[in-house]
Amino acid sequence: MIREPLIFELSDPGKKAFKLPQLDVPQQEGLLESLPVRQDIGDFPEVSEIEVVRHFTRLSQANYCIDIGMYPLGSCTMKYNPKVNEMVAAMSGLAGIHPAAAVDLIQGNLAISHDLEESLKEITGMDAVSLQPSAGAQGELVGMMLIRACLEERGNPRKIVLIPDSAHGTNPSSAHICGYKVQEIKSNEAGTVDMEDLDRMMNEDVAALMVTNPNTLGVFEQDICRITELVHSRGGLVYMDGANMNALMGVSRPGDMGVDVIHLNLHKTFSTPHGGGGPGSGPVGVNSLLEPYLPLPVITKQDSGYAFDFDRPKSIGKVRAFYGNFLVAVKALAYILTLGPEGLKEVAEIAVLNASYIRKCLEGEYHLKYETPTMHECVFDDKFQKLHGVSNLDIAKRLIDYDMHPPTMSFPLIVPGALMIEPTETESKEDLDRFIEAMLAISREAKENPELLKGAPHSSYVRRLDETSAARNPILRWNPENPGKTAGRDRQLK
Ligand SMILES: *Cc1c(COP(=O)(O)O)cnc(C)c1O
Repeated sequence: MIREPLIFELSDPGKKAFKLPQLDVPQQEGLLESLPVRQDIGDFPEVSEIEVVRHFTRLSQANYCIDIGMYPLGSCTMKYNPKVNEMVAAMSGLAGIHPAAAVDLIQGNLAISHDLEESLKEITGMDAVSLQPSAGAQGELVGMMLIRACLEERGNPRKIVLIPDSAHGTNPSSAHICGYKVQEIKSNEAGTVDMEDLDRMMNEDVAALMVTNPNTLGVFEQDICRITELVHSRGGLVYMDGANMNALMGVSRPGDMGVDVIHLNLHKTFSTPHGGGGPGSGPVGVNSLLEPYLPLPVITKQDSGYAFDFDRPKSIGKVRAFYGNFLVAVKALAYILTLGPEGLKEVAEIAVLNASYIRKCLEGEYHLKYETPTMHECVFDDKFQKLHGVSNLDIAKRLIDYDMHPPTMSFPLIVPGALMIEPTETESKEDLDRFIEAMLAISREAKENPELLKGAPHSSYVRRLDETSAARNPILRWNPENPGKTAGRDRQLK
């Protein structure tokens, strides 16, 4: 592959992107003198119009994105989001509204937020929903704060939160930030919560259990009703991480499982692109026990119209500016309404079918540490490839040479060398087959030519990164004195 020049390397002094005809009217002096016009920007590239256009068009095409191909990042649910939902969110009455607009001017917007809350209540089986948190992790923190507020009011604050060892890293962080001490519950051989371990650890110091369902192995917690019963019977509450709702919606409801509080990731399951750094939305759903503590404000619907209720003495207070990421909520509601109850159920069913298909086709060539049937994602590891000195990193990098995005790696932590694959429902059988063929080809290469994998990727703009210095010493600006050291990465370009 030919290395694309940096825009600085295209620069030639005096080149301009535009050319105006000779002035044929008297020049107006002094017009700009009172304005702070910048005379010079150091090292600013000087290029022609066509060079600018081609440079940035090439850059945009060098990016991998869901509009180009599958993005099988397990746990992250990177699915294709229908463009119609973006169009709805871009409507000027929605995108252009001022966040401090008076309530009587935003009745339609409040109706959208309220309808979304009602839809999410129905989907999750919870009694109330708040759209305030801006991310899954913030939803977790808010959920923990709700539990804490409730237990403090009972005069029984408790200090510990139990979390299975398969959990997403944000779970222990959120509990910790909320002031709890985290204790880990071991997974059993099926990859689910070990009931005996839970029974042993669930005592009067434990405020809550944080559980993910289906968990990050993609395994449904079959004992979930017994789990919530046990925790409740000893005075604790149950938090469910609902980031994996793509596997459940329309099929089963956390509220019916006895869960007290759950967060959802609108930017995974409900039609907001995920992974670009935001904006996101992590609504929390609660049962009636926790409803009084919900963050401010709560949207209410009265005969006179919609309103913000700030008069809630037990509330944990405000958790973010204004009212949540409204346009993400718009996309979520548009998505839910276009699919309807049957469509949402079908999403979950196809998500599970697609992941099961991949699992079945790769079984035998890739090792499964846990053999329990999985839902929307499956977790292989590199045990077979390790025999040839090939690691999950080598496999992931080699997939780039097949023009595919690698799956999530090295997570969950209970699977060393993990490759966690979540195709989602939006991929066609043809695309799944292309991915499977690439994975099978890589498995053959691992046996026949392991060095090929260890040097991968071979076809990308940038070869394998020195991940340690990229993370610890990121140099992200071009440096004219030392152009070879443009970034904290191995610029070994082909
Ligand atoms: C993505 C994810 C989270 C965190 O969500 P963010 O929006 O990235 O903060 C939490 N738990 C699980 C299982 C997830 O997949």
